[in-house]
Amino acid sequence: MRISIKLKFSLFLAGLLLLTVIVLSLLVLQGIERNQRAQTEGLLAQQADTANVYLYQSIMAASSKVPETYLKTKGAEFGEQLEKLVSGQPVVLYDGSGSVTSRRTATPPSVSVKQTLAYALENKTAYLVEGDSMYYLTPLRVLGEQVGVVQFYYSLGDHQAFYDEIKQLFIYIGAGVFVLSFLLAYLYFNSFARGIIRLNDTVGRIREGQFGVPVIKRRDEIGELGAGIAAMSERLMLTMRDKDQEREKLSLAVRKLSELDRQQKEFIGNVTHEFKTPLTSIKAYLDLLDMYPDDEELLTTAKTHIAGETQRLYEMVEKVLQLSAMEKYDFEYSKERLEVASTIGSVLDGLKGKMDKFGLTLTTDLREAYIEADKDYMNIVLANLLDNAIKYNKANGRIRVSNVALDNEVVIEISDTGIGIPEGVADKIFEAFYTVDKNRSREHGGAGLGLSLAKRYAETQGGAISIAKSDGSGTTFRIAFPIQTR
Ligand code: ADP
Repeated sequence: MRISIKLKFSLFLAGLLLLTVIVLSLLVLQGIERNQRAQTEGLLAQQADTANVYLYQSIMAASSKVPETYLKTKGAEFGEQLEKLVSGQPVVLYDGSGSVTSRRTATPPSVSVKQTLAYALENKTAYLVEGDSMYYLTPLRVLGEQVGVVQFYYSLGDHQAFYDEIKQLFIYIGAGVFVLSFLLAYLYFNSFARGIIRLNDTVGRIREGQFGVPVIKRRDEIGELGAGIAAMSERLMLTMRDKDQEREKLSLAVRKLSELDRQQKEFIGNVTHEFKTPLTSIKAYLDLLDMYPDDEELLTTAKTHIAGETQRLYEMVEKVLQLSAMEKYDFEYSKERLEVASTIGSVLDGLKGKMDKFGLTLTTDLREAYIEADKDYMNIVLANLLDNAIKYNKANGRIRVSNVALDNEVVIEISDTGIGIPEGVADKIFEAFYTVDKNRSREHGGAGLGLSLAKRYAETQGGAISIAKSDGSGTTFRIAFPIQTR
């Protein structure tokens, strides 16, 4: 059974006070008893002295001056006189042999009185207490010689009543002290225990993982303990939060690693597949040439195909190497202040022949603007986007290249009047090896690597590539780089 500490403390304190009252009352009662007895003994001793003086005077006044004879003949009279003048209570007189010479009471002598008498006959004072009655037996002496014994009676009723009254009073005081001290202690310990109960609640909340606990404001050890627990909880919360963050970081790293692993596997799978196709084609032509070495027409076709596929393989190898180099090593580039209009112009010059081949019309709106970038990599970015604008354009289509310097960035836009990019794959076209139409890409020697390479080059230098617009009328790619004003 669980007993609350406030009940325990209250009972203990009340019990302690009750014990004090009991000890105190026992001492007081003992004192009262001793005092009453001393008073009675004193009074009776005085009566005994008076009786002896009175006996001597009575004998002197009597005709017979022999004490024994006096007691025998005038004992009853002397006893009556003693009762009247000295004691006020029944008196019994005994002669030297213990025989009664005067008895002023109807009560027969008890066995205990007889034993006490035997003691008194040896010239000693003795008394006996029976219930409320006290029998005081003391020698009667004449000129120092014992001639008999006088027995006084004393009623202890009043003493007993006083003693009982005091005892009753102490019982009431004891009960009152117990109840009152219990109540007061309970009230006091209640406020004291409230602090402990609140501490207990606090610990329970921490156990359940609620760390933001309130501080108990008290200027005592409980207050200090509360502050200690709150501080501990705070530290625990911080440690847990740190651990959660670490765990979160770790799982993020694991997720990233497995994603990287997946991408790498996919990349290798794609590389293998994309390399196999041109190699299979080359091998097929070589086999055919083996079988028909004199076929002139086959020779010409094979030469064209093998040259085309070899070129494609060459470009693919180059792009794959560039991509994987970017994955593995810190990208090394030398940034320089680059004038955008002239950089675009020189890339366009290199592609002029290809544009003419497809009958494409080029319009430009180029303004002087500066960015900070690596010239070679910027050329690759522009060349890839322009190459796509040529490859995926319609016959006799148009290409428009413009640039504008805004507040913070320089924006280059490359628009074509080509086939457009279907909705929903806009994000995917930047992934390595992704092509919307495999055959069309292959026709132009592409393998889905150009955009992913361009995007990475741009982003590593602080730039960005996005699709500004794409529909049936064509596509617009946007390249943005932070402006260089110095
Ligand atoms: P590829 O070498 O095949 O051209 P890219 O990474 O450059 O690879 O392009 C990915 C795919 O995005 C292309 O296969 C093509 O389907 C699509 N694409 C890129 N540019 C254009 C464009 N200007 N117009 C239409 N489709 C485009």
